[in-house]
Amino acid sequence: MIRLQNVSKYYYKKGIIANGISKVSMELKIGEFVVITGESGSGKSTLLNVISGLDSYEEGEMYIDGKETSHFTQDDFELYRKNYIGNIFQNFNLVAGYTVYQNIELALLAEGKESDKIKVQINEIIDRVGLAEYANTKASKLSGGQKQRVAIARALAKASPIIVADEPTGNLDVKSAAEIVKLLSELAKDRLVVVVTHNFEQFEKYATRQIKMSDGRLIEDRKADVNETVISENIEEKSDKSVSGGEVRNREVGDILSKSKLKLGTRNTFNLIGKFVLLLVVFVFLLEGVASQYASFKASDNTAENMGTNNFFLSSSDERIIVKNKDNSPITDKQYNDLLKKEGVDFVVKQDLALDTMIYIEGKEDNLSGFPGDLSFSSDELVAGRMPKADDEVVFEINRGRSARGKNLKQYLNGTWTYTSDDRTKTKPIKIVGIKYYDSNNSMKWESTVHMRPTFLEEIKSENIQNNSTVYAVLDKKEIAIPNSIVSSQKVPRGKMYVPEDFDGMFKNGRAVGNKLNLNIKNIYFKDNTELEITNTITSKNFKNLLGTSDTFDSVSHNIYINQDDYNKLYKRPDYQMSVYAKDVQKVDLLVKSLKADGYEVVDLKHAKTMMFDTAILKIVQVPFTFIGLIAVFFICYFVIKLILKSRSSYFSTLRVLGIDKNDINRILDIELLIISHIAFILCGIFTALVLNGVIVIDTISDTFKHLGIFDYVALYVIVIAMTLLISKRFAKAVFKKTAVGNFREEV
Ligand code: ADP
Ligand code: MG
Repeated sequence: MIRLQNVSKYYYKKGIIANGISKVSMELKIGEFVVITGESGSGKSTLLNVISGLDSYEEGEMYIDGKETSHFTQDDFELYRKNYIGNIFQNFNLVAGYTVYQNIELALLAEGKESDKIKVQINEIIDRVGLAEYANTKASKLSGGQKQRVAIARALAKASPIIVADEPTGNLDVKSAAEIVKLLSELAKDRLVVVVTHNFEQFEKYATRQIKMSDGRLIEDRKADVNETVISENIEEKSDKSVSGGEVRNREVGDILSKSKLKLGTRNTFNLIGKFVLLLVVFVFLLEGVASQYASFKASDNTAENMGTNNFFLSSSDERIIVKNKDNSPITDKQYNDLLKKEGVDFVVKQDLALDTMIYIEGKEDNLSGFPGDLSFSSDELVAGRMPKADDEVVFEINRGRSARGKNLKQYLNGTWTYTSDDRTKTKPIKIVGIKYYDSNNSMKWESTVHMRPTFLEEIKSENIQNNSTVYAVLDKKEIAIPNSIVSSQKVPRGKMYVPEDFDGMFKNGRAVGNKLNLNIKNIYFKDNTELEITNTITSKNFKNLLGTSDTFDSVSHNIYINQDDYNKLYKRPDYQMSVYAKDVQKVDLLVKSLKADGYEVVDLKHAKTMMFDTAILKIVQVPFTFIGLIAVFFICYFVIKLILKSRSSYFSTLRVLGIDKNDINRILDIELLIISHIAFILCGIFTALVLNGVIVIDTISDTFKHLGIFDYVALYVIVIAMTLLISKRFAKAVFKKTAVGNFREEV
């Protein structure tokens, strides 16, 4: 079977050459029970390692079944170990988290067996080593003697022709040791068993041969004076059992099957629940880390867009799409209703022009500002107060997260407030009767909204049309631009107008009063005019009486005052443009396309913003930050996983000894980490969905995630899976550095 001829093995350590074994010659055969003895450091382990191919040798020749091995490569020895050698160790080298059954099964799976087809065989072997009632007990819960029996059972399952055991009884009490020795002797019936011990007495009864080592040399090789009767008795007694499973076959051993790898990977994932939870936490962290890096990168895109200022649209949420008819005609009720029903449309704001107006609400303690808004929500959404019932009542909507004042809602509801229009020409007392919160889904969005009844909104729209129109007078067929604000007042009779004093200069006689003035207004949607008679000029003496106002002269002296009806005739108009809000910011482009197909002229705010500075620059800065962030997340996770999986190096060694190669071990680890990362993915996915759908309210998370679309989630998935595999590969590599076969013997 095995023949050694003048085999020497040296160790080189820090320049000193130590003799492992020198010039050892012997021949070992199937059926022998060889016991190697000798004092510590005499070369017993070295000899055993050479025989079992764990160590190479420098001089001489070792023959295996007549084949020379001096030219063997690592791989050749690995194959040899896999086909010939079963190892039994002083420290058992079981997988602590596996049951007895699973430990034995592992040896068979490593040879490419199918787990379904080996159940009977495994149970027979367990029976044979006397552990039937412990089949489903974890190895960590067994006594030393029981553990060593499992190790023997594992070697039995492997059915290798040679079993080597280095101090197999070293950690056992006398009684257990005796049992193990007996078991080993049974194996020697149809195998070669080589045992190292410094307690020969334990083996004396069964050993067929004793080899004594001293200082690396073989000093005695004695065929034991075997008591034949003991052995034959023994064999007879056990022969019915020894055939099952443990029979040595002509060994052509396969590689572990893919489905066995899957099975082991899954087993390793769940067999220690604490470790599973820890790893899951790490992977949730990994996922959240990657996702937040990724999302903040995407959001910075968006922030860059939002940083852009535009001169036209004050209310610049990304979901807003402005539509108008190509011929500038008003949008009909039918069109409005169709827009409302359109797929992907969240809501439609009729008074679009009002959206780009800022209004001010000034009180004793606070000055508020916001965009005008309608009442298209229910009273349930109010956090305090009620819905407006009169035209001078409003609901104030503030950012939930950012308003420190939100804590003192009563102050809003009980305060006295004055409304002031965007151009500050118009003021009136109003009441805040309700408070509403919004959860900002846009980190740049600070603005509040003042919700009001349609009449009030129309009023603001008219003002807005006025502000967006040019006004001129025609005098002697000449057009004279009029920069003054036109203000409605019930104090002015219909058909009349009050003008500033400096209008006197427009007329030949130097007096405005008594003249008729043709006021023209013009904007992109319409052109109109009205002829009014000037009946008063506004002076510092008469303004209070004339206008019934408490304002200062300065604030009124540049306005033109006309009757409310005349004002409405000029400015109260149907809606020429409306704002359509998309449900999903990701689908704005799709909606824009569809609206264009409907024949509208479209401006979408997502793309209409002018940049304050180049987005590209921001991106260039952002890319390395994101990258560094990802690398940091990777290494944090890697080192934590390494800590958690510390015990893995012995598991890997065990797989290695059982003949599973490096790539297959790496796959088993891949499977384990992939299972955990998928569970983490599902957990985080559910959590994110809950946040995005408002079931759980966490502003920062919904802020970052709302910019992600399905493509981004796929990208995230790919990144996380790639990182998982990378961690697995790195970890396996690090562990192999420690457990490479050459080093493995040191653990033995
Ligand atoms: P035993 O098992 O009989 O106690 P070993 O075979 O372990 O003895 O060791 C034989 C000699 O080889 C000792 O002198 C020991 O110091 C040396 N030796 C064993 N393993 C190594 C090693 N990995 N590196 C260096 N020297 C070693
Ligand atoms: Mg030793």
